[in-house]
Amino acid sequence: THQIHIIGGGLAGSEAAWQLANAGVKVRLSEMRGSGEMTPAHQTDKLAELVCSNSFRSDDANSNAVGLLHSEMRALDSLIMAKAHVHKVPAGSALAVDRDGFADDVTAALAAHPNVEIVRERVDAVPETGFTIIATGPLTDAALAQSIGAQTGEDALAFFDAIAPIVHRDSIDMDICWMASRWDKVGPEGDGKDYINCPMTKADYLAFHQGLLDGEKGEFKEWEMNTPYFEGCMPIEVMAERGLDTLRFGPMKPVGLDNPRTGHWPWAVVQLRQDNALGTLWNIVGFQTKLKHAEQVRLFRTIPGLQNAEFARLGGLHRNTFIQSPKLLDPTLRLKAAPHIRFAGQITGCEGYVESSAIGLLAGRFAAAEILGQPITPPPPTTALGALLSHITGGADADNYQPMNVNFGLFPPLALEGKKTKKGERKLMMTARAREAMAEWMGG
Ligand code: FAD
Repeated sequence: THQIHIIGGGLAGSEAAWQLANAGVKVRLSEMRGSGEMTPAHQTDKLAELVCSNSFRSDDANSNAVGLLHSEMRALDSLIMAKAHVHKVPAGSALAVDRDGFADDVTAALAAHPNVEIVRERVDAVPETGFTIIATGPLTDAALAQSIGAQTGEDALAFFDAIAPIVHRDSIDMDICWMASRWDKVGPEGDGKDYINCPMTKADYLAFHQGLLDGEKGEFKEWEMNTPYFEGCMPIEVMAERGLDTLRFGPMKPVGLDNPRTGHWPWAVVQLRQDNALGTLWNIVGFQTKLKHAEQVRLFRTIPGLQNAEFARLGGLHRNTFIQSPKLLDPTLRLKAAPHIRFAGQITGCEGYVESSAIGLLAGRFAAAEILGQPITPPPPTTALGALLSHITGGADADNYQPMNVNFGLFPPLALEGKKTKKGERKLMMTARAREAMAEWMGG
């Protein structure tokens, strides 16, 4: 018999299960994939599958908020961070992973844990009793989403997320493309040549831009109408509609990318990033799209170097479900109206793999402490974990609640007493303050 029921074996549910099991709590982890069910974005039945990019973003803990979050999670024995480290692939200063090796390893670690029982089943209603963590993610299955709506008395909110296409490496023409990181920046895993770059002349770019505007897009379902885009994951055709140069200043930015064949920056550049450990699959960075599949193949093959591209996966666009956490949850992620239930992961309205895992980690730790009768002290808001948690459980404006990546804007301002500082300096001060607060909190 179990002491807590976790619903959803994605990033948050897997991390929560790990934390609880290591604290000595018996976990039932229900995951619908593997029982004949699938979400619109997942492709396997592996736990902690990465549905789009293979990147956990910056691993720089000194001047980047998500890098700082990585380091705090590592200090708390995060399963997701540990397995990401084992399966990392070159990606400049970012932490990117081989998605299959990563998810296989997370699944194996949980399956082997004596305190975890993984059950392949779909859950259709919020349990009425018993400790529960709901971690069903942005693509929570419809029946459960309805039950959550009934339970919380609020309609679940929705917006869009998008998937970028993936190309087979051996179909890319390296006589046209070249390997380089922007400004030849060397990361811990790489050599300053981590990305494949496709150069575009002005004429190439103008034709491509027009192709995006004219391209046939997928139909929106009725429930998808009037759903806003999350700015960080906007489809390229929507960016194209915003202006002729929007893409050239966004994902197709050429700065810092000297083409070795001309000696200067092209008019625009399409970048691909390694997607698996073997280096056989590469994703087109920032190219999430709602274009029809046939249209994507036709248009992306007009990109110089991709004229013969074979696609392992095409782009897509999907719903994202999340609750109004600042109103509904208490400071330890419990549903105020039914405190036996905690929420974790992207359904709480955080955004991103790392953030979802981080909130899973906290939900697991809070639940473990509650079950074991130990005091619960949330991490201080000057840490990355605490800043993210505070945003979700009360810091954000509840009525205009929008999903958010971790960033320094969520941290309490520094007490500078009128002292003038540069932005880079303030980041260093914030991360130093966070490290001190984290050490003190862990000591207590
Ligand atoms: P998930 O990882 O989705 O896990 C939820 C799990 O619950 C799934 O395994 C699902 O099968 C299961 N489940 C759902 N309903 C039920 C049910 N009723 N019963 C049992 N099990 C159920 N973030 C990034 O950082 N980078 C990206 O590139 C990125 N791309 C994204 C692309 C798309 C299309 C989407 C939707 C999201 C993307 N995100 C991205 C955002 C977010 O980081 C991921 O969705 C992340 O997986 C969220 O973690 P989670 O644990 O909350 O949910």
